[in-house]
Amino acid sequence: MEKACKNCNHQFEITDEDLAFYDRVSSLFSDKKYNIPSPTLCPDCRQQRRLSFRNERNLYRRKSDLGGKEVVTMYSPESKYLVYDQNEWWGESFDPLKYGKDFSFDKPFFEQFQELMMAVPRISLINKEPENSEYCNFAFRNKDSYLLFTAGENDGCSYSNRILKSRDTLDSSNITNCELCYSAVDSENSYNCAFVKNCSNCSDCILGQNLRGCKNCFASFGLANKQYCIGNIQYEKEEYERRVKPFLENLPKSKEDYFKWLNKIPRRYMEATNAENCTGDNIYNSKNAKECYEVKELQDCKFVSNATSLKDCYDINNDDNSELVYECIGSEKNYMHTFNDICWFNSEISYCSLCFNSKNCFGCVGLKKNQYCILNKQYTKEQYEELVPKIIEHMIKNMEWGEFFPMNISPFSYNESMAQDYFPLSKENVTSMGLKWREDKEETPKTGYKLPDFAKDAKDDICKQILVCEASGKAYKIVPSELNFYKKTNLPLPKKCPNQRHKERMALRNPRKLYDRKCDKCGTEITTTYNPKQTETVYCEKCYLDTVS
Ligand SMILES: [Zn+2]
Ligand SMILES: [Zn+2]
Repeated sequence: MEKACKNCNHQFEITDEDLAFYDRVSSLFSDKKYNIPSPTLCPDCRQQRRLSFRNERNLYRRKSDLGGKEVVTMYSPESKYLVYDQNEWWGESFDPLKYGKDFSFDKPFFEQFQELMMAVPRISLINKEPENSEYCNFAFRNKDSYLLFTAGENDGCSYSNRILKSRDTLDSSNITNCELCYSAVDSENSYNCAFVKNCSNCSDCILGQNLRGCKNCFASFGLANKQYCIGNIQYEKEEYERRVKPFLENLPKSKEDYFKWLNKIPRRYMEATNAENCTGDNIYNSKNAKECYEVKELQDCKFVSNATSLKDCYDINNDDNSELVYECIGSEKNYMHTFNDICWFNSEISYCSLCFNSKNCFGCVGLKKNQYCILNKQYTKEQYEELVPKIIEHMIKNMEWGEFFPMNISPFSYNESMAQDYFPLSKENVTSMGLKWREDKEETPKTGYKLPDFAKDAKDDICKQILVCEASGKAYKIVPSELNFYKKTNLPLPKKCPNQRHKERMALRNPRKLYDRKCDKCGTEITTTYNPKQTETVYCEKCYLDTVS
């Protein structure tokens, strides 16, 4: 079935498989099924709407509205929400049911939900068991780490997102089990590598893509189990060391030349390992994952990004270990979970925000271990099962049922949220859509301290200096642990601010969009993120494997 998106008017397809999924994820109340209708927005507009609810990278300092303590939080100081320090929020003095409200059939559901969101205090950020790692969000058990977002069990890592079990690593995205790495993207199990993408089990490699089990390779692509290669040409150890030296001394130029060279060699149509019947990019150990990006261990999922270990899930960003989830963002370990924002360890909850360890709840905010609640008000099982169907009928009438929360009730400004990363809009566009825009009040210094190229030439006071990003003009700093890292690795000191570095790493990936085209060698039909209008040569898996060693 073809449908026109209610928002952008683009045609999109709803398959019989999709319809079967919407049926499976629909809930029963007193034995009657309340069907989730097929979506009215196209997959892109749905993703944009969800992403507008996730501020992953912006942290601020403000006072906790409970104890007055200064806290690090994802809510800006001017945000009108009440914000509690995360420990206070989890404590006994915050009782979410205190804010309970009767449902009114005279007002739309989303209006009542927004009122509740404004009333219930928000958790400052999610940073479980940090050890000297205050500036991390959506994080657990990190040690001596700084500015990590979506991160777990790291030690001595900074400026990275989706990073797991890594040590002494900086400026990386979507990596697991790495040590002493810099600017590693979509990579794992590697040591002392820099500027690498889609690499695994490598060590001492600089500038590399699609390397597996390689050691001491420079500016190479698509190699497996090689040593001492430069630009895919094999050398003896001494010759490699002699030749690589001048390239290392001028890494910015080497980087430029490497990307020019990469543009001329055939690319793999999709980054995938052990992926059966999948489409999208960066998919590992998955089966039937369609239009999915940066995912691992997915089965029978569609329109999912940044997720691990899901079964039967559609329209998800940043969710792990869940089953039967639809239209959710930022969640963990849920079952039968629909239209929720930052909700963990729940089952059968819908239209909730910041709810944890709860069951059978509808339209709630900030629950910690509750059951049978609606708008934070406690009901009995019988009352709950009688009232929810009536609310669903009311939502159907108001065209709210089956839709994720509208963007205009997001607690974040559009340009603070991840929506701005994937669907960038101008301030004028954002405000004309009735959405919030956050002005950057940070003063931009005109001139900054002159940074030497390498840490060995830096004076001791460098960590106290305000530096000016050569791309964005924004002020940034180098922290002492970072300086040590650059000393240890001999990598050049960064001339750009962390946000700019993040942006440039994200730009290494193709946008989350699929095209049907033909393999440039054998003509086989492929579905790929490489836009046919661009100049890269793109090969199907078989032809790619024939060209790489
Ligand atoms: Zn659309
Ligand atoms: Zn081919």
